Amino acid sequence: MIYFDYAATTPPYDDVINTVAEVMKRHYGNPSSIHQLGEDADKLLRRAREVCASALQIKPSEVVFTSGATESNNFAIKGAAFQYRSRGNHIITTEIEHASVYESFLQLKELGYDVTFLPVDRDGNVSPAQVGAAIQDNTILVSVMHVNNEVGTIQPIREIGQIIKQKHPRVLFHVDGVQGFGKIPVRIKDWGIDLYSLSAHKIRGPKGVGILYVHEGVKLFPLLSGGGQERGLRSGTENIANIVGMSKALRIAHEKQSENYNKWTEFRDLIVDAIEKIPQLQLNSTKKGTPNIIHFSYPGMKSEVLLHTLEQEGVAVSTRSACSSKHTEPSRVLLAMGRDLAAASSGIRISLGDDHTLQNVEVLIKALNAAVEKLRPLERGK
Ligand code: PMP
Repeated sequence: MIYFDYAATTPPYDDVINTVAEVMKRHYGNPSSIHQLGEDADKLLRRAREVCASALQIKPSEVVFTSGATESNNFAIKGAAFQYRSRGNHIITTEIEHASVYESFLQLKELGYDVTFLPVDRDGNVSPAQVGAAIQDNTILVSVMHVNNEVGTIQPIREIGQIIKQKHPRVLFHVDGVQGFGKIPVRIKDWGIDLYSLSAHKIRGPKGVGILYVHEGVKLFPLLSGGGQERGLRSGTENIANIVGMSKALRIAHEKQSENYNKWTEFRDLIVDAIEKIPQLQLNSTKKGTPNIIHFSYPGMKSEVLLHTLEQEGVAVSTRSACSSKHTEPSRVLLAMGRDLAAASSGIRISLGDDHTLQNVEVLIKALNAAVEKLRPLERGK
């Protein structure tokens, strides 16, 4: 079976696995303890923070370690909303955010916040002008993801950041960077980003660990109270082994970003050309999106049926984002992009990894053709 679901999660690098095991075995101290083992763990933590900061081109003091991007997103959004409530209660996001952002906004709406969900065009783009026009005097936060996890659309983060910082400097800008980091270039400091979420398991690091970048001077209402770790922002004993493992993955993702980008672009073009030759399939991703994600629909065929047929042909893909793929409803993202129910219920996402080869891609293309050939007699209405 060849795995084409890297946007859901990735196999950790051997070096990451060995590092995590080594730290768990030998450096199990609590970094808050003041004996040698504690100091040893604290040193590792400090070093990992520097490595992460350097890969993200931010300051070590701006790194907050979390349990992953779900927590980073919840913390960025609710932490900002609670902290700056006296300034205003209007918060802005888009209709195609990851559930950890989207649901956080819905929760805040229930708590009385005024919430704007910006619509997107047929390719999933939100425009900087749209964001600018939505900002009011009582707006406190804008949250826009860098790369969409289902269809790979790249949002104009730099331009949105420019509008916010030039025209509305009091408004905080949060970016869910999970599907962008290591895939396409990002300049946190140059793009006016105040809060940036990241997850290690999407870049071949361990699961259950991530980062929230908090720009110097930005205050957040802590959601986890306790021992005051992470500058009092996120209490809880640090997951040292996973944090050190993450720092390795982050460095590699940063260093290999442009090399991987070129390889993925080549593979993506081959896959897209093959999909365009199969009349039953409709592409939802575009060549302007991130090159590691390809998304299409097979209207009239349930995604699950196509997924399992592809599995029989030796490739593992996704029906949509992993976290929602157990739900059988049509994709909220595709509906927001103006697709009909048939297209929104038959989506398939292919996502590439840094260890894929041309041979793997050829197997995938063969499998796509074979699966559609097998399913043609079952097309609804035929
Ligand atoms: N945001 C995006 C865009 C994602 O793709 C994911 C993972 N599916 C998350 C947030 C949540 O990350 P985690 O799995 O680390 O909680």
